[in-house]
Amino acid sequence: MCSVKRLIFVPFDQLHYGYGALAGADPESDTLLLVESAQKIDSYRQRNHRLHFYLSSARHFAQEMTQRGFEVIYERAPSIPVGIAAVRARINVDEVVCTTPSTFGQQRILTQLGVKFVDNDFFLTPRALFDQWANGQKTYVMESFYRAQRVRLGILMDGSKPEGGQWNFDKENRLPPPKNYTWSPYLTHEIDEIDLEVGREIGFEPAGTWATSRSGARAQLKNFVDNHLAHFGPLEDAMTTENWALHHSLLSPYLNIGLLHVSEVLEAVLARHAKGDIPIASTEGFVRQLIGWREYVNGMYWHLGADYKNSNNLGATGQLPEVFADSAKTQMRCVGSVVRDVAERGWVHHIPRLMVLSNFALLAGINPQAFLRWMQDSFIDATEWVMVPNVIGMGLHADGGQMMTKPYVSGGAYISKMSDYCKGCKYNPKLRAGDSACPFTTLYWDFLDRHESQFASNHRMKQQYFGLSRLADRDALKARANEVLSMLEQGTL
Ligand SMILES: Cc1cc2nc3c(=O)[nH]c(=O)nc-3n(C[C@H](O)[C@H](O)[C@H](O)COP(=O)(O)OP(=O)(O)OC[C@H]3O[C@@H](n4cnc5c(N)ncnc54)[C@H](O)[C@@H]3O)c2cc1C
Ligand code: SF4
Repeated sequence: MCSVKRLIFVPFDQLHYGYGALAGADPESDTLLLVESAQKIDSYRQRNHRLHFYLSSARHFAQEMTQRGFEVIYERAPSIPVGIAAVRARINVDEVVCTTPSTFGQQRILTQLGVKFVDNDFFLTPRALFDQWANGQKTYVMESFYRAQRVRLGILMDGSKPEGGQWNFDKENRLPPPKNYTWSPYLTHEIDEIDLEVGREIGFEPAGTWATSRSGARAQLKNFVDNHLAHFGPLEDAMTTENWALHHSLLSPYLNIGLLHVSEVLEAVLARHAKGDIPIASTEGFVRQLIGWREYVNGMYWHLGADYKNSNNLGATGQLPEVFADSAKTQMRCVGSVVRDVAERGWVHHIPRLMVLSNFALLAGINPQAFLRWMQDSFIDATEWVMVPNVIGMGLHADGGQMMTKPYVSGGAYISKMSDYCKGCKYNPKLRAGDSACPFTTLYWDFLDRHESQFASNHRMKQQYFGLSRLADRDALKARANEVLSMLEQGTL
């Protein structure tokens, strides 16, 4: 039996040699272990981009660490505990260490195995620091957290004032898609033997949309900073059928599995900003996503606890409609396009996720856990700590308002303003009743009506309820809403 001092277990979402347990690793005394768990693979209900990305990135990382001089054991096993136990039975190990896991489930499993944890520094905000902030708040408003982050980390600050004189350029960052616009190019990543091997095993053909190695992720970061950052802000909420990525960074998959660390993304963006020709609205808009939303969502995941994902405060029981599995099952141009894009690449940006998919699920009363499962199965960057608060809290308001002070609901008018989907759609975003009424518009008013007792006294929804009280056609609206829901069920909407 051979002997090593430390066995460093590397989860597939912590693939960075510079952080956590790997930061102090030494090829002389440490052996690295990655476990490809059949149980975990089976939990991926689709053989799609996401599973390919997950497996191929881990295998590339194992190869990279071998090239760095480490002994790397890449164990295929029925489950993570079985894999760790099998390796422990083969080699003498003084201790098994791991970076503190990123999800409740993995933390529980590894704690039971007696694995020793090293602090998780994949985020800029330690969990205790977030709790300290959260415990001092009446409501968990992201904007307050974000401002505190800017000050604490000294980012985009002029002394004690925000650079550019404002904390927030959201008002400038809400332009609809431009006409006759030349979109900057996005990368196609080279597909290598590991990508092909994983593809053959799972029956999926990689297209090169997503990198599966650190060098590919770095290339993506450079491409974003060079070609997209300057235009990120103003168009960050726009949706168009002409371009799938707009000026978004496409960095979330890499950040979420460790191929990129948040601090190196921040550094690259701020270094580019320092050259002086990037509008502050763009740099601030991006920084807000990264040190604001991303850190806030991670903090909230831990702060709100393991049961939070089961919340269903609005009592939504609707089944997931077929359109989520097959975009041909709807004539709604927005939903059809977005579902098609998700199937094709495992990604759409935050507004289609929030204002098309989640908005629709919320308005139609779809069960939050059914929708969450679909989102987790479908998105390349899905990981529990980020998907759960975004879906349960932000998207579906299933947590009774713990995260958001009001539900993110809107009718077709918002989609019509911010996209080109409505042109050529069978439905009319301005109509709420009748055969041509836009389902979003109908269900939006019906949602307000159905949930009047919960939301009418919410001062942030006063105007919406005032609008509802002035509607003269509430009966016709209700009749159309019922029709819409049954058409949705039959796959004819
Ligand atoms: C319902 C819903 C579900 C979501 N699910 C996920 C998910 O599973 N995984 C995921 O990484 N993001 C999720 N997001 C957040 C956001 O949509 C994606 O991070 C973003 O679209 C990824 O594309 P990008 O890298 O080009 O982001 P950019 O628009 O370029 O933003 C830069 C970075 O900011 C971070 N970020 C931005 N918004 C958020 C947010 N709300 N929460 C956390 N991080 C954020 C991401 O790391 C992102 O890479 C979700 C949002 C919603 C509304
Ligand atoms: S009219 Fe309604 S359903 Fe059609 S694309 Fe616009 S918002 Fe979507």
